[in-house]
Amino acid sequence: MSDKIIDLRSDTVTKPSPAMRQAMAEAEVGDDVYLEDPTVNRLQSRAAEIFGREAGLFVPSGSMGNLTCIMAQTFRGQEVICEAAGHIYNYEMASMTALGGVLPRLVAAADGILTWDKIAPAIREKVYYRPQTALISLENTHNMAGGTVYPTDVAEEICDRAHEVGIPVHLDGARIFNAAVYLRQDVAAITKKFDSVQFCLSKGLGAPVGSMIVGSRDFIERCRAIRKMLGGGMRQVGVLAGAGLVALEEGPKLLPRDHENAQILAQGLARIPGIQIDPAKVQTNIVIFNIGKTGINSSQLVDQLNRRQVLTGAVDAERIRVVTHRDVGRADCEQAVRVIGEVVGAGY
Ligand SMILES: *Cc1c(COP(=O)(O)O)cnc(C)c1O
Repeated sequence: MSDKIIDLRSDTVTKPSPAMRQAMAEAEVGDDVYLEDPTVNRLQSRAAEIFGREAGLFVPSGSMGNLTCIMAQTFRGQEVICEAAGHIYNYEMASMTALGGVLPRLVAAADGILTWDKIAPAIREKVYYRPQTALISLENTHNMAGGTVYPTDVAEEICDRAHEVGIPVHLDGARIFNAAVYLRQDVAAITKKFDSVQFCLSKGLGAPVGSMIVGSRDFIERCRAIRKMLGGGMRQVGVLAGAGLVALEEGPKLLPRDHENAQILAQGLARIPGIQIDPAKVQTNIVIFNIGKTGINSSQLVDQLNRRQVLTGAVDAERIRVVTHRDVGRADCEQAVRVIGEVVGAGY
């Protein structure tokens, strides 16, 4: 058994590459609250260019990016329609309510993929005595549904129909580049109808820190003020933006390999007796598998795997999530499958 730790907990665990370290060391910097950090300014315009938008904004985290976009498009007492298993509802500390004063209105969907037919009944009647639907938020890829991808026509229909009734649509595109790889379309094409887009540099793209918001110039100016209100006004942050620029240029090219490795995991896991996973449903770099029939529960299995240098995450008592990324290779994934097979086979 090798000593190397195979960390499949998340694609956030990647370490900055040598090129990122170098860009960080050499980044030209200035005070970004005064708009004077040249590296941040370059990152923001490059992100806007890639997404075909007027402007971009660097934010410390995806959570702050989503919250900023929500606060820029809602008033207190309004509602945001979102998918029940989504990140903004389950993993962002109820920030839209605690800080933004708005309520999530949950709609559950198979594989996390909402459709207009599911959303329409959740939109509030326009009467003054009911909370009003201010925003719809979609997640692409959908993390807890196992990295599932929105068919572009489904997402566009939601945007078109929402716009007809005057409701903007936000995209939590933490892993939108993974969706683009799966769809073989570019990110600008698959996001063009959204009013606001948040995507992470710190996930599959490999940057150590940070997310981006892109949108219209007016929208981004509002977001800049809200980011400052939330404590996200950063100073000589070009040292992080430098790594972000490398992630943005080089990261997307590495994602197809992550998706291939996710297939190695999914297909290998599918052959282990007691494990349930349909590899055909694994579209990107996230693999969620069910161990309900193995006789072991998730936390026991995660513990046993930790001891054997394979790090995974429990989703619930019966489901485990593994995520591929640039710091795990094909051999690591094959080794992980072997170890999982041995632990499950041993029945402890
Ligand atoms: C990771 C993630 C975010 C943002 O997370 P941070 O840890 O705040 O950067 C947002 N949405 C989804 C779907 C995510 O997976």
